[in-house]
Amino acid sequence: PANGEEVLRVEHVVKQFGGLRAVNDVSFTLHAGEILGLIGPNGAGKSTMFNLVTGVNPATSGRVVLRGRDVTKLPARAISRLGVGRTFQHVKLFPEMTLVENAMMGGYARARGGLLASMLHLERRDEASLQAEALREIERVGLRDQAWNQAGNLPLGKQRLLEIARALVADPALLLLDEPAAGLRYHEKQELATLLRKLKAEGVTILLVEHDMDLVMNLADRLVVMNYGEKLAEGTPAEVQRHEGVREAYLGG
Ligand code: ADP
Ligand code: MG
Repeated sequence: PANGEEVLRVEHVVKQFGGLRAVNDVSFTLHAGEILGLIGPNGAGKSTMFNLVTGVNPATSGRVVLRGRDVTKLPARAISRLGVGRTFQHVKLFPEMTLVENAMMGGYARARGGLLASMLHLERRDEASLQAEALREIERVGLRDQAWNQAGNLPLGKQRLLEIARALVADPALLLLDEPAAGLRYHEKQELATLLRKLKAEGVTILLVEHDMDLVMNLADRLVVMNYGEKLAEGTPAEVQRHEGVREAYLGG
């Protein structure tokens, strides 16, 4: 998408689990080339919002619009094929497989028929081009020298980078990162921040759920703050930091 183009619009979205409104009437938009941080205390509804956008859990009401297309009712695989890539809060890699093989999974998942069908039926030529693309993305996240090693031998910080490479193989219009800095050491967080800045400069659009306030305040162009399922505040990091309600929510006051 061209810079500034609307990539994602969430309109008055509600997600009800029994008697609990995990997401309650939340709206925001995300434009191409932007990093939007989604923050809030534990239980605020961030992961639920992620699952609504990726189609893992359908919204109870409201709309999710991806590049002008209503995807509210689409299943996760269809949404991923429309160009939404994601990483998971808990790393999901195949530890016995190489970095290249793991990254290639991002391409299989995008193909028609899904993962298994394409692993079985992919033509040699497609397989080779997918492998080349996987290598390019591995290089892009700075792991080229370990491309043929087993993923399970990587330290956590580099596994996170590999997950990002895997998501990038599908060339997503929107990249969702669920707490990518969780459990990382200081220097690994620095490495992650450098990569996300580079991706942004290259035009990748990112929705970032992150607990590490320093990281998200430094990286995000704008923030949406959730609390008890509702949108509590929205604005630049500076605006959000000044917001009285946000301070209270975080200080438990
Ligand atoms: P966050 O990611 O901000 O910590 P979540 O989106 O995980 O918050 O959770 C928001 C609220 O919704 C919490 O009270 C949680 O217990 C509840 N919740 C999340 N998923 C489910 C589910 N599948 N069924 C019932 N309640 C859920
Ligand atoms: Mg969560």
